[in-house]
Amino acid sequence: MFFELSEEQMEINRLARDFTNEEILPVASKYDEEEEFPVDVMDKLRECGLFNLAVPEIYGGPGVDKMTHSLIVEQIARGCAGIATSVEANSLASYPILVGASEELKKKYLHRITYEGQYASFALTEPGAGSDVAGLSTTAERKGDHYILNGDKCFITNASYANYFVVLAKEKGAENKFTAFIVDRDLDGVLIGKKEKKMGLRASNTASVTFEEVAVPVCNRIGNEGDG
Ligand SMILES: Cc1cc2nc3c(=O)[nH]c(=O)nc-3n(C[C@H](O)[C@H](O)[C@H](O)COP(=O)(O)OP(=O)(O)OC[C@H]3O[C@@H](n4cnc5c(N)ncnc54)[C@H](O)[C@@H]3O)c2cc1C
Repeated sequence: MFFELSEEQMEINRLARDFTNEEILPVASKYDEEEEFPVDVMDKLRECGLFNLAVPEIYGGPGVDKMTHSLIVEQIARGCAGIATSVEANSLASYPILVGASEELKKKYLHRITYEGQYASFALTEPGAGSDVAGLSTTAERKGDHYILNGDKCFITNASYANYFVVLAKEKGAENKFTAFIVDRDLDGVLIGKKEKKMGLRASNTASVTFEEVAVPVCNRIGNEGDG
């Protein structure tokens, strides 16, 4: 087994290293001190193919392997751990879609982050459920062509900027039946809380999200009921 990097991996690593030296290190302390979300850096990362790292080329992503993905994030984090955290929020939201969503949902929602420059957040953590995922209390109740979501999520990276959320919820009335949904930010009842003040990773945006009687179309369910 060979552990050396391929020529292509070394080339991408150099690209990410140079990007970090030129575009992140000079502004890292400013964004950290001002607790500001670095939209311009995000745009440049996207232009250079250093964003949406989990997304394959067929959906508009860079289609890099896992080793290359980690090399890029390592370089970005060398410049600013907060920026790296925000970059990876799109990856985090992409994985459940890639693993379990229908082809139609993959095209619709992955294209939005790759071609349209949108942001996505992964919303699992709740005030009463972090490491203990089974303790989450956000509920989803099927009513006709929709699921009605109710619950509070906290510490959600990029929540203030996300155009959609990949949300893990529990079927109302069932003990341990978890299902993931793609929830558009502009649906009635999606309420974004105030930005958290943090001791570190301050360039990344972290906020709570409340779902109040949010009607999510059944077609936005990822996989089958209970697959979450
Ligand atoms: C900057 C930031 C960004 C985040 N972004 C997101 C996001 O985008 N989406 C999202 O869903 N969540 C996000 N989170 C939440 C994060 O995933 C949770 O904080 C994490 O899962 C831990 O949960 P908790 O905070 O409830 O801590 P707890 O689960 O209460 O854990 C507290 C401590 O207890 C330990 N512990 C817990 N259970 C056990 C056990 N059984 N045995 C031994 N030790 C245990 C833990 O290791 C930890 O040290 C973010 C958090 C931060 C700080």
